[in-house]
Amino acid sequence: MPALIFRKGLDLKHAVAGMLADNYHSDIVERIKAEDFTHRAGRLTVHLAREFGFCYGVDRAVDYAYQTRERFPDRAVFLTGEIIHNPHVNEKLRTMGIRFLSDAGESLDALGPSDVVILPAFGVTVAMLASLDRRGCTLIDTTCGSVLNVWKNVRRYAEGGFTSIIHGKVWHEETQATASQAVQYGGTYLVVFDRAETDVVCNYVRRGGDPAAFLERFRNATSPGFDPDVDLQRIGLANQTTMLMSESLEIGDMIRDSMLARYGAADFDRRYQAFDTICSATQDRQDAVVALLRERPVDLMIVIGGYNSSNTANLARICAASRPTFHIADPECLISRDEIRHRPVGTKTEVSATGWLPVDGDVMIGLTSGASTPDNLVGAAIARLESFCR
Ligand code: SF4
Repeated sequence: MPALIFRKGLDLKHAVAGMLADNYHSDIVERIKAEDFTHRAGRLTVHLAREFGFCYGVDRAVDYAYQTRERFPDRAVFLTGEIIHNPHVNEKLRTMGIRFLSDAGESLDALGPSDVVILPAFGVTVAMLASLDRRGCTLIDTTCGSVLNVWKNVRRYAEGGFTSIIHGKVWHEETQATASQAVQYGGTYLVVFDRAETDVVCNYVRRGGDPAAFLERFRNATSPGFDPDVDLQRIGLANQTTMLMSESLEIGDMIRDSMLARYGAADFDRRYQAFDTICSATQDRQDAVVALLRERPVDLMIVIGGYNSSNTANLARICAASRPTFHIADPECLISRDEIRHRPVGTKTEVSATGWLPVDGDVMIGLTSGASTPDNLVGAAIARLESFCR
């Protein structure tokens, strides 16, 4: 029996609006927005970035998850994995009885037509969708329109005979889903993480090299049967939607230059195509934090969001280039005026640090949060900062 798919919600927006507000709204954040994104209390001044927190895609995905629970109170409801990269939101969904297929003891093979499965904002692979479809599950598809836009471009590359080079994280669900689209439409792909990896690709484009060494370097990051001697002759560029905009642009320039050097400018459209697929919400949050750093002489930056959230990590990277920056997963990381738990930029481990907050005099803190961080966490962090500076 083919799956039934809901792609535009379940007509229960009003029924869940109160619950969503109770769980994620913050009065203090609304007040600060109304006061020009600035909050003063005693010696503390907090400047909020003008764009932060839930993006349109996350807002919609969480809304649909709540609607799903409301619409199917007696049926088993599953998520394929985290709905978004925020531990609080995922935990809240667990308390509502929504189960995670990524949890130990759960299995996709056990699903059947009576089960309901929510697909996350960053989408699922073609193989996962086909598997759910075969089992006849009811599907609630929350894949964000901006992710669908990337897929559309990647499909076009595949159909036009271009290899999709995806600037992204090969371990990220969105990039895996995007890569699977290339293969589904008969194409090839290669995922590059940063400038260093792009440099390896560009050198190969310019001068060729040892294909075995190339494939070893990009193990798990290429489509099956990838041949760099053949598959780097025509390239289409795409991005994971949450990468650092400035880096994606540089990577695009590097690849274009290498293709120009190798093949010349004649008929270049047949060799190289690029579409900026960073989503507008990611770009707005990055632009807002750049503006905050430029306009406000903040002593330090706090960036709130899950440690596995790509867009949050990139906001922290921007901040760390010019200010002491603390990427915290939640307000509880602000332990005391002396101690903080945070994940330093460029590392994978949370650490504990002391002496992070100036003890005397005025202190000015800049604050932003990732696209998967609800406002109530931002509000709770500000309340803690206030208590430390009293
Ligand atoms: S970060 Fe962008 S692509 Fe991802 S869910 Fe939000 S709006 Fe959609």
